[in-house]
Parts: sequence; structure tokens; C-alpha cells
Amino acid sequence: MEAQMRLVQRAPSRTVVAAVVAVTLVAVPAPASAGPGAVGRPGEPPKTPTAHGYGGAVSTVDPTATAIGLDVLRRGGNAVDAAVAAAATLGVTEPFSAGIGGGGFLVYYDARTRQVHTVDGRESAPAAMREDSFVDPATGTAYPFQQARVSGLSVGVPGTLKTWHEALRRWGSRPLSAALAPAAEVAERGFPVDATFRQQVADNAAAFAQFDATRSLYLPDGQPPAVGAVQRNRDLADTYRQIARQGIGAFYTGPIGADLVAAVRRPPVAADPTAPWQFPILAGGLTRTDLAHYALRFPAPTRSDYRGYQVYGMSTPSSGGVAVGEALNILERFDLSRLTVTEALHHYLEASALAYADRNRYVGDGTSRRILAELLDDRYAAERACRLDPARAAPKPVPPGDPDGRYGGCGTALAGAEGNPGQSTTNLTVADRWGNVVEYTLTIEQTGGNAMVVPGRGFLLNNELTDFTFVQPPGAAPDPNLPAPGKRPRSSMSPTIVLDGDGRPFLALGSPGGATIITTVLQMLVNRIDLGMSLPEAMAAPRASQRNSAVPQAEPAFVSGYGTALAALGHPPFVATAELGAATAVEFTGRHGLVAAAEPVRRGGGAAGVVLPAR
Ligand code: GLU
Repeated sequence: MEAQMRLVQRAPSRTVVAAVVAVTLVAVPAPASAGPGAVGRPGEPPKTPTAHGYGGAVSTVDPTATAIGLDVLRRGGNAVDAAVAAAATLGVTEPFSAGIGGGGFLVYYDARTRQVHTVDGRESAPAAMREDSFVDPATGTAYPFQQARVSGLSVGVPGTLKTWHEALRRWGSRPLSAALAPAAEVAERGFPVDATFRQQVADNAAAFAQFDATRSLYLPDGQPPAVGAVQRNRDLADTYRQIARQGIGAFYTGPIGADLVAAVRRPPVAADPTAPWQFPILAGGLTRTDLAHYALRFPAPTRSDYRGYQVYGMSTPSSGGVAVGEALNILERFDLSRLTVTEALHHYLEASALAYADRNRYVGDGTSRRILAELLDDRYAAERACRLDPARAAPKPVPPGDPDGRYGGCGTALAGAEGNPGQSTTNLTVADRWGNVVEYTLTIEQTGGNAMVVPGRGFLLNNELTDFTFVQPPGAAPDPNLPAPGKRPRSSMSPTIVLDGDGRPFLALGSPGGATIITTVLQMLVNRIDLGMSLPEAMAAPRASQRNSAVPQAEPAFVSGYGTALAALGHPPFVATAELGAATAVEFTGRHGLVAAAEPVRRGGGAAGVVLPAR
């Protein structure tokens, strides 16, 4: 139930994005990562949303994870080493967003081969999953979202640990044990609780109260931990250390996995829940065989050429790459740089809606390569662009297109707008030397996942399978995202790496935010590439999300800044949403220069750092 309906039923979850960049493995001095004016909680490294410099960069939502990633880079580790160490730390300090109980997508640019690779570590449905698994047999209708979420039914086979292991094996220079060690130390030593962490527990208090292991970890004395309290997780420290010693078999075929499967099949509901829960807590069908058979996939990245850049994204089961790519292809028919900001935003919103119509109709795990290729074809984009009236918003929802390979083509390409990326080479900023790049989005789906900490193991389980469409809507075209055994639920995660016309890294970015991830990434690209903003400006700018809906969302500053002007172009009123996304990004500038950017305000602000700050 990953589409818009769910968004009104829940608080936005906090997928974590860790963007990590290393340049070369030359020894570099170890200056402070943060610049002047950096702030931080007591007992925590300072955090700053923007850092300029050289030698490698890390941007995450969390200062401890960023500091650990930077430390790996300083000690000669590469981007993958640092990304995995940072991700493992986020599993400790951002446990409601990410961890080894979940999944994610990693996009990697290999500087040596100049290739972009992807890792699909998305959770998969167990063999026992059926198309009607989310239908209540008692009523014949879909389970309420919260009932499906806080259950064993929603737990997909986690791919995160395998992602870390395999990324290190293929591209890293250190073993998984080295990446897990600093995170285990943070888990044991503890870290200070901040207002976001406390609020996330408060928002989940009733669900967390249903399970002893979750309650004892996150509801000490029955209450969320106080801001400034030290949060420890010794079980997770032990889990990481056991995996470090024994390998990932301890999880996928060993005792940790056995405990995980037991929790799914017999949810460890407290005998005396300290808060009421309105639903029975259902068991899931995940087995040790499902866990043992989990396999990563390595799909070719999606690619869209946009104004001379090569935009690489994540293919299915994520819809991120194809939706961002199609929207960019549509936008490329128009010269946004010549428009007013309102007009450019109008184009952005309309292109988002068109791409979303196609994503909802055609994209899921198992969409054919032919359809994916058609959706990313410029001739298809030209046909879709016919529906984008530069002067008037189309009534929503707009219908999907027909990616059948036969295109009438209105919307002639702008001169020089696209074509062979090599032709654009000279038009673009080029650096003479770049490093490896990792863009990685990982999640346990909802903030707090399915609310079950695996007893004795210290990590939360995902509820990723609620990203499936629960039931085929009657009378509608077949939904590509219905549950099936072994299938992966459609995602919106959009880890994106942009290369310039010479094939060298220009920008890497991604964000959490459920279905709004696609629009956040798209809007940041438009801000940066078309609207002349710097990367920190493109990140900070107020966001809107039009996902082919008559009730689009926007942040309050967007509504006050552009709402009236966009209404005059026919856009429906925006539903004000406090925050959309929590992005991280790195831009490559000039000769080895780097700009690392995190959110200045959203989610309490993120932490960006570089190995060698510019003076
Ligand atoms: N489960 C969501 C997806 O894969 C991500 C969770 C979120 O960021 O809200 O699209």
C-alpha cells in the first residue's frame, strides 16, 4: 500500500540516505570535518549542513555516522568501506529508519572502470506470500494499514546485511568486521538522545509498548527517553560483533536469523502491554529457508540523459530511477532556464504527475525490460510532453501513457537539448580527476519498522511488505505491485548519481520520504541544473510533491511563496506538509573539489563533512 493513500495514514518515515565519496587513497591530514559555526549535541561530533573541500566527503543525517565515515576515509578506506561503516552506525543511532532488519538500494560509481553499478538489497516476500495476504479473511477487505504494519505479515526478508557484505567484497578494501566495529562501539558506549529520536519513540509509543524487547530498549520507565539521555543498545553491539566474528551466516542461516524468524512467526507480544493496541497482532509466514535463500540483485542502473548530464538511478523494484528519468526526459523538451521560477515549478509539477501516472500503472517488481526502456525513451517523453501545457495545469489524475514503441511525437526536442551525451561534453563543467561514489538509501519502511525488536538482538524488523498494493482496485488496470511469493514491493527510493558529459561524477543525491522521494530528488535536480541554485540552495529550497493527485503536498514556505501564482495556472491547492524529505548530496567541483550537503533544517538538520576542508 505504497501509494498516496498511505501517506495520509501515517507519519513520514525516515529512510536514511548516506552519500559517501572518496577521492584517492593518498594519505591526507586529519583536520576537523566541520567548519566554523558547526553545532552538535554534547557527547556527539559537531554537525554542519555544508562542507567544502577535498579528499573525500560524507553526508548523512547523523553526525556520529558522518564522523565514522570520514574516519574510515582518513585511514585510507574507500567509499564503500566508509559507506558501510556509516550505514552500520545509522543502524545504531537512527534505528527507527534503518538497520540490519531492513533493506535498501545502493548505487556505486567505480572510478577505475567508470561504470555505475547498483545493488538491490530490497526485502523480498516470503514463499508463503499470496496475492490476498493483506486481505482480512473475516471481512474480505484489506487490513487497516496499522494492523498490517505492526505484524509479522509485513516483514520482508532483510537485504541490508547482504548488501554491506557484498558491496565490500566487490568494491571495498576492508572486511565487514572492520565496518561493524565502530558501530558496535557506539551501540555499547551509547549516544545522546536528541529531540527527533525522542519524538520518533513518542510517535510509536503505543506500538512499541506491545513488545517487551522494544519497550525495554526504547521506553525506559514506560516513557520515551529524555533528550540528552544516553541511549545504549548492548544487544545490538553483541549482534554486530557476532556477525563480525562469524560472518553473515550468523544472520542468514544461523542463530540471529532463527531469532528473527521466531519473532515473525510468533510475534513476541508482551504479556502486559502498557498501552492499548486496537488490532490483533498477526503472525507472518517467513521461514528460515526464505532467509537462507535471500539473494541480492544487481540490475543495470536506469539512465536518462538530461541537458548533457547522464543521470543514473535505481531500477525495479524501485520506481525511483524510471520515474525521475521519465520526468527529466519530459522536462528536457522545455527550456526551464528561460522561464520564471513559477513557470519552471509548474513544469516540474506537471512532469512529476505524468511520470507518476506511468509509474503507478506500469512499474513494479517484474516489469519487463522493454516497458522500462520505453518509459525512459525520449520519443515516449516527447509524446508525454504533449500533455504538458506550459500555461495550464492538467486536471489530476492524468491518465498513464501507452509505452508501446509507436509514438506520434509532439513536443519537438529543443535544439541541443539532448541526443548523444558526447555532444554535450564541452558544455559542461568537467573535473580532471574523480573518485568512487556511493549513493545509498536504506530503510525499514515506517519510522520504527513493524515495532518489533528481535528479542535479545537489538534491531527492529521492517514492515516493507506494506509497500505492496494490498488489493487490486476493482475495475482498474492490473496493478503491477500486488503481493506474490518472492516478489519485492515497489519502492520509491531514488539514490541517484549524475555524471557529466565526459562520464565523470557531477552530483550524487538521494532522500527518504516514501513516495515523495521521487519528487524530492527530481526537484533538487531541477533546482540545481535548471534554476541556477548552488547545491546547498537546491537542498534548502522549499519542496512540493505532485504525484498525480488532486491534493498535492507542499512545505509551508512553498505554499506561501508560490501557491497563489501556481493556483492561477490551475494547480489545485497544496496540502501543507511540515517537511518533505531529508536529503544528502555531494557535488564534484573543479579539480578534486567537493561540496558535501545535508539538510540545514529538515529533521533537525544533517551532517556533511569533508576529509580536507577548503580554507
Ligand atoms: N518504503 C519506502 C520505499 O521504499 C521508503 C520509506 C520512506 O522513506 O518513507 O519507497
